Amino acid sequence: MYCPNCKGKNIGKIGNQQYYCWNCFIELSLENEVLDVHQVEEDGTLSSLNDLYSEDERTLHM
Ligand SMILES: [Zn+2]
Repeated sequence: MYCPNCKGKNIGKIGNQQYYCWNCFIELSLENEVLDVHQVEEDGTLSSLNDLYSEDERTLHM
């Protein structure tokens, strides 16, 4: 899998179906082969970045 933002593969697994891009500092959670993209704010809350990407860009193409 790769990051939908930077297309990089510098992805770390942080939990069950949860990943983190070390290039962009965004969190990716996988649901039904579609990635939910979140930015972690300084206070620890998550804000969705899904609007920035098309569903196709967020779908894993195995
Ligand atoms: Zn990235």
